[in-house]
Amino acid sequence: MKSKDIRNQFLEFFKAKSHTIVPSAPMVIKDDPTLMFTNAGMNQFKEYFLGNSVPKSNRATDTQKCLRVSGKHNDLEEVGHDTYHHTMFEMLGNWSFGDYFKKEAIQWSWELLTEVFKIDPKNLYVSVFEGSDDADNFGLDTEALELWKEIVPEDRIIYGNKKDNFWEMGDQGPCGPCSEIHIDIRSDEEKAKIPGRDLVNQDHPLVVEIWNLVFMQYNRKANGSLEELPAKHIDTGMGFERLCMVLQNKKSNYDTDVFTPLIAEIERVSNSEYGQNEEVNVAIRVIADHVRAVAFSIADGQLPSNTGAGYVIRRILRRAIRYGFTFLNTKEPFIFKLTEVLSKQMGEAFPELRSQKDLIQNVIREEEASFLRTLDQGLVLLENLMKDSKDKKISGEKAFELYDTYGFPIDLTGLILRENGYELDEAGFEKELNKQKNRSREATQVSAGDWEELSEVEEEAFVGYDQLEADVNIAKYRKV
Ligand code: ATP
Ligand code: MG
Ligand code: MG
Ligand code: MG
Repeated sequence: MKSKDIRNQFLEFFKAKSHTIVPSAPMVIKDDPTLMFTNAGMNQFKEYFLGNSVPKSNRATDTQKCLRVSGKHNDLEEVGHDTYHHTMFEMLGNWSFGDYFKKEAIQWSWELLTEVFKIDPKNLYVSVFEGSDDADNFGLDTEALELWKEIVPEDRIIYGNKKDNFWEMGDQGPCGPCSEIHIDIRSDEEKAKIPGRDLVNQDHPLVVEIWNLVFMQYNRKANGSLEELPAKHIDTGMGFERLCMVLQNKKSNYDTDVFTPLIAEIERVSNSEYGQNEEVNVAIRVIADHVRAVAFSIADGQLPSNTGAGYVIRRILRRAIRYGFTFLNTKEPFIFKLTEVLSKQMGEAFPELRSQKDLIQNVIREEEASFLRTLDQGLVLLENLMKDSKDKKISGEKAFELYDTYGFPIDLTGLILRENGYELDEAGFEKELNKQKNRSREATQVSAGDWEELSEVEEEAFVGYDQLEADVNIAKYRKV
């Protein structure tokens, strides 16, 4: 089944159960001081859950563009190295605003997965909240447990802790237990060796979480105690790319038709081959992933820049450029070329990719050209450092200066030094980095809730080399 049919079937399934299909909210959030990027389907419905506004329809379904690169949900470092976390991904969801609750949410999720999508129930595990001994005044989610027992044998049910099976919006507000659905797509041989249930939530690439059903039934008060909500809500989120992996019988999200056209284009324009060498594979996955994140945010009006959300986007794009530069040997801009395939591939579901294609292309090309120049300058400096070094060692201070002032990535410094038989004082570099982090930490407040992400991004942000560059000017690109 093609990915676009999978997306449509999900939406049609819930439409047939009286849900209104709503559009994805923008991925870039402009009017919420506590959240830069949409990181879950429920974000756009926050005001309904808080009771501040009333929805037109009390059942909704959609596919939401999400970005998880900062704050509580930061998957950036995993991306490319694993095969199932992305920066930008689609989260399929269904919602009940004070309407149906656990019974329907559980039964429908099962019906969709096993009857419509025909996933073999033998490959599925479900989890329920085991309860908590701390100040929370409730225990095991017996209601969900009883409902699941009607559907699956008990050895398929996993008891999950607060970290995995209890959802909260922040220190206060609506919250509740959740049930997650995990899938085991290993071979029968592997399954015989270790039962799938032992691998749930263990970062196994073939035993992954696909769907999270959140049961919002409490309100956490300022004093930390829980009270029952007068109206209970359902909030679910399923990873679209992971679902495609399962339904297309693949072992990696990148082998689904969501990514294969992009990967083929990367191979073509960078003259590389996917599937031959692990470093190259990681680089190709990073680029295939990051071009989506960057293209979608530019389409939403967020251009790369030196501060805030723009800085996050710039960092993602530079990570992709750097992986290309280091492992695919791409010394000229090439990521901008991928947007043609991307807009063809996803433009039907997300028309903004088509209508903004020229802007997206021009911005990415310009960013690539400018960062590649920075990398070139850094290379010259590094060569001089090596020439001047008597003991074949480069100090942490020098490496930090290259990183901080010229934006020369430390892993690239390390790689080049190693290749030339030089040594890098990594501990010295870490020391300098920590000094700088402490400096900026003192200037900002740290917080980690779902809705307070700005300070954390600011904390990570260094300005150094960015200040050497002219900022991106949207008017300039529109003219091109
Ligand atoms: P994981 O434990 O795999 O990191 P999660 O528990 O953080 O997932 P949720 O916040 O429950 O994820 O989001 C709902 C669903 O979205 C998950 O069940 C998963 O299918 C999908 N998902 C979460 N993070 C990502 C990501 N970075 N890339 C792709 N899909 C994701
Ligand atoms: Mg996660
Ligand atoms: Mg999880
Ligand atoms: Mg989850």
